[in-house]
Amino acid sequence: MNRIHRIACAGFLISALFVLSACTGNGYGRSAIYSQLVEDEIRVVMPANAPSISQQFRVAGNRGGRGSPTSFHEGIDIIARVGTPVIAAAPGRVVDSFMEPMYGNRVVIDHGIDATGRRARTVYMHLDSRRVRSGTQVARGQEIGTMGRTGVLAAAISHLHFEVHRQRGSRGVAAQDPHLFWADGVGRVTCFDPQRAADDGTFRITYPVPCRDTAAR
Ligand SMILES: [Zn+2]
Repeated sequence: MNRIHRIACAGFLISALFVLSACTGNGYGRSAIYSQLVEDEIRVVMPANAPSISQQFRVAGNRGGRGSPTSFHEGIDIIARVGTPVIAAAPGRVVDSFMEPMYGNRVVIDHGIDATGRRARTVYMHLDSRRVRSGTQVARGQEIGTMGRTGVLAAAISHLHFEVHRQRGSRGVAAQDPHLFWADGVGRVTCFDPQRAADDGTFRITYPVPCRDTAAR
């Protein structure tokens, strides 16, 4: 990456808009920096074989966030080619599977209420194709669709916008930083491994895109 390219990419990051896949160098093992709008930044440990994260979770309001629409990003963006499988981050039941203009093809999975008594859902957006319908039970790691760039907000860049919604006390279900919920612990991005049981009764997620070695299986 040359200097001008770096500056151009930094411009994209600062403007907190859409980060082109070119800004991440190679497509695996990279995790974007957090925006300064995030108060409690999580140290992210990214496996070298995991498709890169191009944008982290952001919410406006903390640290006097400017509150413009672009200061919100209620999930993480994972970049890979159109058609890359998108897989369920945890077992559950599909509660929505539809297409709309802004986020394109969307799948929502409800993971029920875990041992702590809290409900969780995961949301997958900009899909090229949807492989599941509302009502379908899915296993962890099951293909639910393919990565794409559908919807105006995808800005024509192939990526998965992935959200985790979790019940917070009496305040209902709200988007939270997905890095809080990896099976290997906070910030420890966990590739899906079919050989390994990730369920311990509490809500835990694995990466919603296959890591390189499992994709080759
Ligand atoms: Zn996004």
